Amino acid sequence: MSGNKARLDAISAVINYKPISEPLNFAETPTKELFASNVFSTAVMKQRLPKPVYKSIMNTIQKGAPLDTSTADVVAAAMKDWAIEKGATHYAHVFFPLTGLTAEKHDSFLSPNGDGSAIAEFTGEQLIQGEPDGSSFPTGGIRPTFEARGYTAWDVTSSAYILENANGTTLCIPTAFVSWTGEALDKKTPLLRAMKALNTQAQRVVKLFGDTDGSLITSTAGPEQEYFLIDRNFFLARPDLMTAGRTLFGAAPAKGQQFDDHYFGAIPERVLACMMETERELYKLGVPVKTRHNEVAPGQYEVAPVFENANVATDHQQLLMIMLKRVAEKYGMVCVTHEKPFAGVNGSGKHVNFSFGSATLGNLLDPGDTPHENARFLIFCAAVIRAVDKYATLLRSVIAHAGNDHRLGANEAPPAIISIFLGDQLTDVFEQIKAGGAKSSKVKTTLNIGVDTLPPLPKHSGDRNRTSPFAFTGNKFEFRAVGSNQSIATPLTVLNTIVAESIDYIASQLEAESDNLEAAIQKVLQEILVAHGRIIFNGDGYSDAWHKEAAERGLANLRTAVDAIPEFGSEAAVELFQKYHVLSPREVKSRVEVKLEQYAMAVTVEAKLTARIAKTMIFPAAIRYQSQLATTCANLKAVGYSFDTNTLDRVTELVRCLQDSTAELETALAHEGGSVHEEAEHALKKLIPAMNTVREYADTLETIVADDLWPLPSYQEMLYIK
Ligand code: ADP
Ligand code: MG
Repeated sequence: MSGNKARLDAISAVINYKPISEPLNFAETPTKELFASNVFSTAVMKQRLPKPVYKSIMNTIQKGAPLDTSTADVVAAAMKDWAIEKGATHYAHVFFPLTGLTAEKHDSFLSPNGDGSAIAEFTGEQLIQGEPDGSSFPTGGIRPTFEARGYTAWDVTSSAYILENANGTTLCIPTAFVSWTGEALDKKTPLLRAMKALNTQAQRVVKLFGDTDGSLITSTAGPEQEYFLIDRNFFLARPDLMTAGRTLFGAAPAKGQQFDDHYFGAIPERVLACMMETERELYKLGVPVKTRHNEVAPGQYEVAPVFENANVATDHQQLLMIMLKRVAEKYGMVCVTHEKPFAGVNGSGKHVNFSFGSATLGNLLDPGDTPHENARFLIFCAAVIRAVDKYATLLRSVIAHAGNDHRLGANEAPPAIISIFLGDQLTDVFEQIKAGGAKSSKVKTTLNIGVDTLPPLPKHSGDRNRTSPFAFTGNKFEFRAVGSNQSIATPLTVLNTIVAESIDYIASQLEAESDNLEAAIQKVLQEILVAHGRIIFNGDGYSDAWHKEAAERGLANLRTAVDAIPEFGSEAAVELFQKYHVLSPREVKSRVEVKLEQYAMAVTVEAKLTARIAKTMIFPAAIRYQSQLATTCANLKAVGYSFDTNTLDRVTELVRCLQDSTAELETALAHEGGSVHEEAEHALKKLIPAMNTVREYADTLETIVADDLWPLPSYQEMLYIK
């Protein structure tokens, strides 16, 4: 049998797959009991804390009141006892640095006692504040390494939890990561600030509508995660997948996804087993995963949780990615979350569903049943429309990174042009408002802005448009252009901030004319639709016609991350972030630097890998085959046959091209470094085209060279053997 070792091992792994652990007995331990069993939840706190302490901590969680040291001490002690009962030996402050990854530093509970023994200790101070050093995280110049101090501070609104490992458990405390000057070094802090801004502004609007109870308005998020699972044998035989997270070589398989036979198809047994265990682990951590299914590409899947408050959803999203990867390994597979692991095969996104609401008012982006609720809905919906149009390039910048460049605008994912899909019915309502057709009048005590003479607002828009980067889906907006590998923290930070700004604007208009609120509502809605209606597009976002039309409408089309990232630091963005106390100008600048630097680094690593693999794996395979062909040719000639040298000629030509293009790539790599912006430009304009050329020759060789000589697992194998 021919085939490289990785293929044979993978085939054997699939054929010999046996359940690796006791079957999960959900009848014995129902999901209900399992759920959040490893979370130091408010329910656990209620049970374990003295009443006044519990009240005090709830005050902090629900209203943002400061947490005093005596409360923290009691909470810490209870948390420690709970964690030790669950087998914890260490605690970790978990934080989210600008790399987009999750970081944790573990400390033991044990403290030496002076007499040679040790006691388990965990004080309020240790709970509230940590000092992980972490001087090697990128900060974009905020914190020179000589003043390495970075502090972590417990985000009380996100529960502590226990992470299990075969050899013990760890108490994990979600934290914000800040410099000693209080500047945010992470992704959580700005999100918390932005959520606060949204609450402040939204309160003004609901107050005008007579809702004065002041219950906290929080933004909610439900992120849908797409990912690939491939056999670990293949992964380990692909230095590109291992190091860059995506394949840098690989000829298209004979059968791609054109049959659509994988989408929502039956889930293979090993994959399903892996999904179930992942879900069980996530349940324990209180992550409410809900749906699972096959995605469009072979080997591609999706998991989605029930929505939660945006900051909790963000923490849970990070946990979900960690857990997917961890459990997959147990099943002999690797979970690949890169946006485009396989060229020519559908990439992966992370649809971030976004809304906001409060405990008493419910979801504020739900059309509602009464004219009163409808009017409020239209106001908030218009705020989102205005926000997305006004800050379209900022929104584009938060989804800009090297990986997502392979998706956006590539006719399979939302285009790089930001637009909003509203659906026909809602668009119609707004069109009428825009035309001034909806007259306002006041009937009894209910607010009537005329729109209730229109058909009832669509509760669940039936039509789905998968080509829109930002779609209204009945009672929430779905930001579809987010990359599968990225943290949702910054997209949510920006959404909260830009929507807060629009609500601020609207609230100011309405407050100024509050004696005739209905007229004021009509006026502001109309004005917004006239000024920002251009962002609404219900058609095919993939079409060329849309690219043309979008340009005519004056919508930005920032094709690459290098075009888009600087928009995060535009004058308008800096002003916006400063005004709502989300990011200081320095914090903004640092993020632009880090993003550009990460872009340049990611592409440079890929370029180096491309050259290395071309030289040490593909070139040797090609010349071995070339030599075999030449030997056959010489042998045949010796016994009097003529030999058709077509294949030999072709291979020889391709080998030469491979060598030349690799040399060019290496020349491009050898350039002198400049500013981060110059580096990113160089990566985009020089390295990527050079890499693509090398790949082209290599991929052609893959379709000619004898299969048993080819050193890299093929697309066919990686996508279909599972
Ligand atoms: P669909 O499958 O039609 O896209 P779902 O109702 O399954 O819609 O929702 C997809 C995601 O949107 C889920 O994660 C869900 O929890 C989330 N979602 C639903 N309502 C909201 C909301 N109000 N705010 C944020 N996310 C929401
Ligand atoms: Mg969806």
